[in-house]
This record gives sequence, C-alpha cells and structure tokens, in this order.
Amino acid sequence: MEKRQLLLIDDDRLQFRITQSLVRGFRPPYELDWASTYEEGVERLLSRPYAACLLDFQLGPRDGLELIREVKEKDCHTPIIFLTSESSETVDIQAMEAGALDYLIKGEINSGVLERSLRYALKLGETLERLRLLATRDDLSGLMNRRAFDTWLSDEIERCSRFSHVLGLVLVDLDHFKSINDRYGHPAGDAVIRETGRRIGATIRTVDRAARYGGEEMAVVVTEGDAIGTRSLAERLVEVVATTPYVLPDQQEIKVTLSAGAAWYPEDAADPAGLIAAADLALYTAKRAGRNRAMAHRDVAAARMT
Ligand code: GH3
Ligand code: MG
Ligand code: MG
Repeated sequence: MEKRQLLLIDDDRLQFRITQSLVRGFRPPYELDWASTYEEGVERLLSRPYAACLLDFQLGPRDGLELIREVKEKDCHTPIIFLTSESSETVDIQAMEAGALDYLIKGEINSGVLERSLRYALKLGETLERLRLLATRDDLSGLMNRRAFDTWLSDEIERCSRFSHVLGLVLVDLDHFKSINDRYGHPAGDAVIRETGRRIGATIRTVDRAARYGGEEMAVVVTEGDAIGTRSLAERLVEVVATTPYVLPDQQEIKVTLSAGAAWYPEDAADPAGLIAAADLALYTAKRAGRNRAMAHRDVAAARMT
C-alpha cells in the first residue's frame, strides 16, 4: 500500500518522535516528514504534495497562524491540522479562520484522536478542493474561469506594486474560429478549445496562471514576467498551437492557429483593467498584421509613432 505523506511542522524534536510513534499503526499507512522551522515548513508545504500537515502554534519568534496565512496566499491547498499546547478559544477560532481544518491540543493527542482528525481533515479537504475547483475552473478548457482569473490578476498586481515586482499578461484568441465551428460543427469547436487549454496549461510554468477569458479567448498571467519573458511566452503559445495539427473527435486533422498580445506591469499599465486593455490592443494589432503571431504592446506604441 502506498504511504501517504504527512508533514509535521514543529520546533520540538520530542513532538516529532511522539507523532512518529502515533502514526506507526495507521491504516492506510503514513510516512511522517518533519520541518523544524517556520521557513523550512513553508518551503516543504509549497514544494511537495503532502496528504496533510500538522502545524504547531509556536514556531520560535513566529507563529503557525502566520504560516497558514502565508501558504494559503501562495495557493497551497494541503489540509492543515493545528496543534497547540493549551486550549484557547481565541487561537482555535483564529486557526480555523486562517484556513486550518482541525485543532488539537498536544496533551490530549493519542493515536485514536489523531487518526480521527486526519481522516476528517482529509475528507473535508477533498470536499473543499472539489468546491474550489467548481467555483474557479472552466469546465471546457480545464483552465481557471474568468472570475477567478480577475481576482488572481488584481491580487498579483497589488502584490507587485507593494514589492516593486513586474508581471506579464498574455491574451490569445483563436484565429478564424467561427469558420472552424461552421465547417466542422460546434462540438469540434469545443474540442479545439479543450485542446488549446491543454496546450497552454502544458506550456506555462507552474507559477503562471491561465484562464479561459471569453469564448475562444484565453489569458495568461506570467508571474515575475519581464518584457523578454512575457514576449517569449506569447511566441511559444503561438508556436505550440500552430506546429502540431489538432485531431478532431472524428479523427480528422486540422490546422489551428491563434494570435497573441502581450503587455506588462508596470510599464504598459498600472492597473488590471489598463493591463488587459494594453494586451488586447496588442492582440488586435497581431490580428490586423495577419494572425498566427504575437505582438507586444510596446511594438504597437512604436508602430504608431512611425
Ligand atoms: P478572429 O481571427 O478575428 O478572431 O476570427 P474569429 O472567427 O475567431 O472571430 P471571433 O473571435 O469574433 O469569433 C468567436 C467565435 O467563437 C464566435 C462564437 O460562435 C465562437 N464561440 C464562443 N464560445 C464558444 C464555445 O464555447 N464553443 C464553440 N464551439 N464556439 C464558441
Ligand atoms: Mg477568434
Ligand atoms: Mg474572440
């Protein structure tokens, strides 16, 4: 039976030993990993797919509540069970509000209590994840939906403005998509949108976010994307669609292309609406220039001055 990975974040080695002996007899079996500092805990949670995490309230100068908020903000969905030394209603509620799924008092933990809590947190975590996907994902393309993307984009721009970071936005739109629908039928058009979503998802980095922004228009936020990185992603997207033909549900192969427009924060615009308008103008210019290509907002502005 494959072992489920469980992470304990606690600065106390004794707690690691105790927890290790508690989980020994669990079915299904768990393998316990240990992070002894706040920083190590954040790093592990964000980089490895744990089934669940046990998190101590006291972590040197910082606390577990802060850690939950930090990893949640970075899109971590691992179920977290909070551990404290004493019962406190305030900490209990704060932990739940920060995103913990359960709360255990260290002195009261035995193997039955821990097993029940893990089972409960895992089940609740699954349900919450399903609801989250239902609310944030577009069914056809498998990418984020527009509402979730708008929230992501404005949160990212706010973070960039606070820390003086940059960010790129790429908008893509399938070329002559109406004629694909007309010639092969609407279900074939749907299959093209689905496959385009898959190709975009496979091309971007894990830190980037892609969404279906409208009918056959999709958007990508390029995290920390500067002018060069954003432009090269836009060009890659044009390429991954154009170079390999699409296979329709009836096995017919067709050639599909798309056009892309890129813009970046803060050079091209200082807010989400402005950034989308800038990328959209670049996309429109790419369409006008003959489609199946990427343009940056910077090129549009330069073209206008000549
Ligand atoms: P252009 O190269 O200028 O983009 O030409 P186009 O034909 O792609 O024009 P436009 O982007 O305006 O066309 C969008 C079409 O996409 C119109 C609409 O019927 C179709 N569409 C929108 N959503 C869906 C969908 O979910 N499924 C399918 N099959 N078609 C869709
Ligand atoms: Mg189109
Ligand atoms: Mg369109």
